[in-house]
Amino acid sequence: MSRKPSRPSSYAKYTVWPVISKYVRLLGCIKTTGTSTYGHCYTCGRKNIPFSELEAGHCIGKYGHSNTEFEEDNLRIQCNNCNDIRRGGGMVATFKAKLIAEIGQSRWDRLYYLSKKVRYWTIEELQEIKTKYEQKLDELTRSKV
Ligand SMILES: [Zn+2]
Repeated sequence: MSRKPSRPSSYAKYTVWPVISKYVRLLGCIKTTGTSTYGHCYTCGRKNIPFSELEAGHCIGKYGHSNTEFEEDNLRIQCNNCNDIRRGGGMVATFKAKLIAEIGQSRWDRLYYLSKKVRYWTIEELQEIKTKYEQKLDELTRSKV
């Protein structure tokens, strides 16, 4: 299963992102329903969406904002409709308003500031991010038992 990473972008997409996505979705389920199997969409509020149908959505879109692509403050669970660029379009205005209410203006300002900086991740940096989220996922999984 494990493929040798050729470029940072493919390593990020196929190796790092699945770990982060799983962590964000599990955390979102626990926060909204207290279970690891269902969660409520952050932006439209649709309830009890199965874990497998939830997506880890970015408030500040990942395209052109690689520096905040893996920031936990930027990621919340969404239904497929809200997260779809052609349909919900990310529900950015709602997402942002809810996020500022949740994390506070100063953390939002930090996130926004970071998003404006162009970032080209190296494989080594991406491996660190992956390890960090693997640990967080592990802790979260064990805390649920
Ligand atoms: Zn939704």
